[in-house]
Amino acid sequence: MLRLDLLENAMDSFDESIAYFIRAEDKGESRYYKFSILLIAHTTELMLKEILKEKGHYLLIYTDIDKINSNRLSYAHTVNLEQSLNRLNLVGISIPEYIVKKIRNLYNERNKIQHFEIKLSEGEASKIVSEGIVAIKYLLEEVVGNNLNDYLEEDLIEEMNKIQSLFNSYIQAAKDKISDKNSSLLTYELFPNRMIKLPCPSCGEKYIVKEEGVIKCYICSNEFLNIKDCIENDAHCYISDVCERELNRRRNSGKYLIDYCKSCSTDNCYYNENKDSWFCVTCFYNYENTACQNCGNPTLYKQVGFYYDFYQDMESEFICSDCANQSTKYFEIRDWE
Ligand SMILES: [Zn+2]
Ligand SMILES: [Zn+2]
Ligand SMILES: [Zn+2]
Repeated sequence: MLRLDLLENAMDSFDESIAYFIRAEDKGESRYYKFSILLIAHTTELMLKEILKEKGHYLLIYTDIDKINSNRLSYAHTVNLEQSLNRLNLVGISIPEYIVKKIRNLYNERNKIQHFEIKLSEGEASKIVSEGIVAIKYLLEEVVGNNLNDYLEEDLIEEMNKIQSLFNSYIQAAKDKISDKNSSLLTYELFPNRMIKLPCPSCGEKYIVKEEGVIKCYICSNEFLNIKDCIENDAHCYISDVCERELNRRRNSGKYLIDYCKSCSTDNCYYNENKDSWFCVTCFYNYENTACQNCGNPTLYKQVGFYYDFYQDMESEFICSDCANQSTKYFEIRDWE
């Protein structure tokens, strides 16, 4: 069990976070949402570090352990989120991906608040803070083994539950509006004859529709010109995560040829037979296909193979990497492009 005082420090920030949310509601001052988010992100940060200290070793919270001067510990850099998660893993604490994702989102929102001027609606703020609550509850109850109710006053627990149901009511309202208007959710034919529902690049929720020539999110109210605009604004990788998951499901089926994308370098570019082109599910780039002039297979990376023909004249042809690696026909192979 963790030392109470350390957790109480984290819980103080949590307390304050909820209080700021209520103040934003009561006073209609949306800037208080920002403080609420900053504080809830701070709570998770403190919790992760304290878990690392207590379940691992206190030195694990410092970035560069070899360079620590024990007299100047308060000046030493401490670990960032990815390092905390990685080190927690090393000491045998694995946090499920859905919780990690919520924490990452929270940190992203905090960065946005710290570095840009952003406006937050009640819906967005309730989503971000709700996710923070879920993550904190998980860390405290599942990892530490304590009960959240033991740390919070009853009225605060009530307020916390209210924030969560507020977010659910936004989801319900979005669903209702979409069905009232008879609009359909934004989808994309990611694979031949397989439409995939895409999430909003700003908030990650799937209540986004195409309506009157624009793409509009019913949760965060952000608008996008078209799919390309959505992809370009997918800074949190909400869309690419969904699409990569779809590709990974198909990766080992052998049904699709998959290669590295020339634009984003991920191993997520597949050959679409219907369109006779290569498509990257991460950056949505389309590449023209070339058939290998030796074996006829679709190729993304063209290479040029030089060989001597029947008359001993030197010839060249575009070939796929399999032919480049395996065929004995060529005396020289060069990269093309
Ligand atoms: Zn949205
Ligand atoms: Zn790509
Ligand atoms: Zn070939």
